[in-house]
Amino acid sequence: MSSACVVGAGVFGASLARELAVRDWDVTLVEQHSPGTVRSASGGDTRLLRAAHGDAEWYTASAVRARELWLDLEQSTRTRIWEGVGLAWFARRAGGFESTSIPVLERLGVAHEWLEPDDARDLFPSLAADDLHGVLYEPDAGVLHARRATQLLVADGERHGVTYQGARVDPGDDPPGDVVVWACGAWLPRLFPEHVAIEVSRRDVFFLGGDRAWQGAPGFVDYDGGFYGHGDVAGLGIKIAPDSANDTIDPDTLDRLPSPHWEEQARSYAAQRFPSLARAPVLGGRVCQYDLSPDTHFVVDRHPEHDRWWLVGGGSGHSFKHGPALAEYLADCIEGKREREPFHALGARAGDAGLRTGSD
Ligand SMILES: Cc1cc2nc3c(=O)[nH]c(=O)nc-3n(C[C@H](O)[C@H](O)[C@H](O)COP(=O)(O)OP(=O)(O)OC[C@H]3O[C@@H](n4cnc5c(N)ncnc54)[C@H](O)[C@@H]3O)c2cc1C
Repeated sequence: MSSACVVGAGVFGASLARELAVRDWDVTLVEQHSPGTVRSASGGDTRLLRAAHGDAEWYTASAVRARELWLDLEQSTRTRIWEGVGLAWFARRAGGFESTSIPVLERLGVAHEWLEPDDARDLFPSLAADDLHGVLYEPDAGVLHARRATQLLVADGERHGVTYQGARVDPGDDPPGDVVVWACGAWLPRLFPEHVAIEVSRRDVFFLGGDRAWQGAPGFVDYDGGFYGHGDVAGLGIKIAPDSANDTIDPDTLDRLPSPHWEEQARSYAAQRFPSLARAPVLGGRVCQYDLSPDTHFVVDRHPEHDRWWLVGGGSGHSFKHGPALAEYLADCIEGKREREPFHALGARAGDAGLRTGSD
């Protein structure tokens, strides 16, 4: 039996550890804090799952596969991790990210609908749509309970034989195992500064209190406006999250208190886009971090000097949804059944694929 040490129990590490155990590997999963810690990007309350990724077909296919796997996990563990509320893309112009996504959705047979702004108003209890060119609606998209799903992956991995260990591991420790996978999220660039060009920057999210009509309202992405969120899910409130450039931070020392500046931005966006939320109270907020690769493609590659080490990360604010599908892909690469994609390689990156939910 081959053995693997997976460092980091975020969605990447936890999914991979479970996948390798299902494939009969002897797996140890090591985490410095706890699975789903709110210091990790996977420890947020909720994450959107959408199929549209502009013309980046690999990611659309991966999101579709991941959705199947998340639903399987929900069913086999009888634990609710999925809210199938759909998702609306607010397109501010013709020829933007939304229209570019449509041919790929069509090619892959992903359900979607293009709505005129007036026809989209019924999707939400209140929606200001006069500035919109149209709305791309994905009925099969939705919201994952992210922290719960991450912890579930670890627990289910243990049921499949994963050994979980609480510890901080450094490259100098040279962990044992036929394969070592460093799935360390925002900590990856610090562990491998010579190989990984990832910027770690802060993101604040807010939950607003609306009336009952917001329960079950869809997720949304205002790509050119730099905001995303969802209706009231599981009593958390309505999520309004700015997705614009922000300060670089240290994930260990950051005080995770929401910033008044971003709170004001979220309140004012909510008032403008969803008029009935103009006076809605803020119920809570969270501060998390993106580990941004220069082009928003993930990093999945062998370490150039240690053949049995893999570096995995660069989730770039959009990787949660892919977790279990990415694990299948990476496990195939590790087992030599598939080549890693060229756009996941370590080293210099050019351009910006624009795969997160904001365009700036
Ligand atoms: C505010 C916000 C909103 C987002 N929204 C979405 C969304 O709607 N949809 C979506 O798909 N994605 C979204 N994302 C992105 C997604 O959450 C992340 O890309 C994903 O969770 C990254 O997972 P990860 O496993 O790579 O990293 P992490 O979740 O950060 O996990 C890394 C883990 O490694 C551990 N670790 C690090 N170093 C060591 C070490 N040396 N030894 C032991 N353990 C170590 C850490 O403690 C941590 O638990 C969002 C992210 C943020 C911050």
